[in-house]
Amino acid sequence: MAKDSKLVEIGKHKIELTNLDKILYPDDHVIKAQIIEYYLRIAPTILRHIKGRALSFIRYPDGIDGEQFFQKNKPDWAPDWIESAKLGKEKKNYIIAINEATLVWTANLAAIEIHQAQSRQPDFDKPDYFVIDLDPPDGYPFERIIQMALDCKIHLESYGYIPFVKTTGRKSVHIVVPLETLYTYDEIAAATQEIGKSFVKKYPETTTLKIAKGARPDKVLIDIYRNRESQTIAAPYSLRALPGATVSMPITWEQLENTSAITDYNIENALQMVLDEGDAWESIGAYATELHTKRTKIHTTGKAPESLEKYKQKREFQRTPEPDASYAAGSGNAFVVHRHHASRLHYDLRLEQDGVLKSWAVPKGLPPRPGIKRLAVQTEDHPLKYLDFHGSIPKGEYGGGDMWIYARGKYQISKTKKNGFYFRLQSKALSAEYRIHDTGNNQWLLERVENPQIDYLLQPIEPMLAESAKKVPVSSDYLYEVKWDGIRAIITIDDGVITIRSRNQKDITTQFPELCIPEEAFRISTACFDAEIVCLDDAGKPIFKDVIRRLFHKTEGAIERASKKTPAVCYLFDCLYLDGRPLVNEPWWQRREWLTDSIKPGTSYRISQAMEDGKALFEAAKQMGLEGIVAKEVNGFYYPGKRSAVWTKVKVRETIDCVILGYTKGKGDRSSLFGAMHIAREENGTYKYLGKVGTGWDAKKMKEIFETLQSVDTCDRYIDEKPLDDAETTWIKPELYCEVRYASVTSAGTLREPVFVRLRLDIG
Ligand code: MN
Repeated sequence: MAKDSKLVEIGKHKIELTNLDKILYPDDHVIKAQIIEYYLRIAPTILRHIKGRALSFIRYPDGIDGEQFFQKNKPDWAPDWIESAKLGKEKKNYIIAINEATLVWTANLAAIEIHQAQSRQPDFDKPDYFVIDLDPPDGYPFERIIQMALDCKIHLESYGYIPFVKTTGRKSVHIVVPLETLYTYDEIAAATQEIGKSFVKKYPETTTLKIAKGARPDKVLIDIYRNRESQTIAAPYSLRALPGATVSMPITWEQLENTSAITDYNIENALQMVLDEGDAWESIGAYATELHTKRTKIHTTGKAPESLEKYKQKREFQRTPEPDASYAAGSGNAFVVHRHHASRLHYDLRLEQDGVLKSWAVPKGLPPRPGIKRLAVQTEDHPLKYLDFHGSIPKGEYGGGDMWIYARGKYQISKTKKNGFYFRLQSKALSAEYRIHDTGNNQWLLERVENPQIDYLLQPIEPMLAESAKKVPVSSDYLYEVKWDGIRAIITIDDGVITIRSRNQKDITTQFPELCIPEEAFRISTACFDAEIVCLDDAGKPIFKDVIRRLFHKTEGAIERASKKTPAVCYLFDCLYLDGRPLVNEPWWQRREWLTDSIKPGTSYRISQAMEDGKALFEAAKQMGLEGIVAKEVNGFYYPGKRSAVWTKVKVRETIDCVILGYTKGKGDRSSLFGAMHIAREENGTYKYLGKVGTGWDAKKMKEIFETLQSVDTCDRYIDEKPLDDAETTWIKPELYCEVRYASVTSAGTLREPVFVRLRLDIG
């Protein structure tokens, strides 16, 4: 094996990676290892779009300034597990990417650019979108491309389409319109010809349909000619072989308006954008429409499909709000997942087939990742009207209980197998490929085929933080909760295994045995909750020092004794993931409803109550000596790791969490300890000096603080300001936090009358 080569295992496949240090982008110093890493890490998102498509690659073995090779055929020497399909008149054997390993293998060939066909397995002859490429002359200003794209969007919307946009990574944008997979290339080419013509007619000065460059020195080619067989476009999230290591980036229309240049999206930031803001094209297939030239009139008849007999027999339509069994027109490929809290909580997966909804009850919910098989019991077919049904079925009726729409969109069958099939769900709530197969007696097994880009159960989630305010914001947009004074915790339950992490991502599960009761406390199989762990006194008031102490017991015996002496209670206030789907983009009232439905009563887990009268709650918090309250926007989303005005905290006393940067030498009776602590506010890795705090402790407490201070490594001063007593100061690494009460802030930004309240060993 060559010196800079490496054997890696991706999924089930071993791949030898070679020339990892080879520089492929000389100006940007990007080496091959970075290309491979990019494609591996963004694989869950890119595969959502390219899986099942014929791919061609452009390889740059000597870097982007060297010779380039088109790879349209799968090479003979490719490993057996690389899938391919023979397509087109020339019967080329195109590579089909099916997993992370395929992308790593192609990246290792220095296949920097991935180009995709417009159709997808199994419908290779029927594209699932059409594309318009705005092709400008050289040097055309990008802001004019943006304006033209926005004009084109309006033009397409006037036909009833829902267009999406991505940068090409080269000089322009692709406008992509998802289609039902019903039409041939020829039919689509004809329809886009008409769209192109009428657009150019509207903007004759700036646009053209003529391909020859001479015919259009200063006009933008409205390139509708990619919608033909054997034509390709740069795949979403493909790197481009251009200086800046640009990415062909799917973005929202709003992001397009704020884009300043093609190079805004590149190998350095594309993945992080997806992790922070999600995939702008996540549910693109859910917006597929019919081709405007082929739209059919919807026919409805009063006749119910025969297979709905069972559905009718089981129900009394005078007593249940469920829809009757009459016929309704459908799109042919709709799906819905219901969360159904009947006598036993379960989920119902329903796929439109032959004019009805084929239905399966999935007791444990959709599997969160590959490798987990979930039982799915086939139940009676439901009418299409059930796609929109949600509500309460009265107790005593068939299926009595609450029914929520958990996810709703479109699906495609991606592969048919003996006794089952693969299908891809696309919706705002959930986009992933699953496999379901019949094991007999109506018992099916459901599996997820693809890895999620963010696994909320395995990757530590950072909690969202609140902004501070002095006064309670009053509006019907808010509900109000007590600000619980304890340890902020993210709690995950993954198939019966509970993990509790503190705000600084430490696993503190073993410190709280009384909270490790997944079966007893929860009505879910997988979930991620945001919560506060507290120890309460007899009056129900949280005692911070009791709960903090719980973090420092080391032996099993000591932990067990502490759990008896100062038992913890966990107040749950948010749900970020539940039984197979993330909830962060659901409004809070909806997350709360599902949170409430997921918790069994009478355990150490409680729901933090939300109140309508913020002022009254604040007064009550003051009376009881609680820390404060939090106002939360009823429709607000959850932004992991961000400080957001969606939540506003109002404290009874004015305090701030500060990082301790150092301490001064003590004088007099403090000469064996320390004098005061230098404190600062941390903001995105920079430190804003707040002055010193030198009171707020007794002799015993001071000794404890000093011991903690001495346990932190010393270092150079972290702030630019040089305080007068710099020479007397021991500067320490910014690892230790404390809470400080103060009267006001000076014009210099330091705290007036600061008083130490407590160390915050749970953050930082
Ligand atoms: Mn059900």
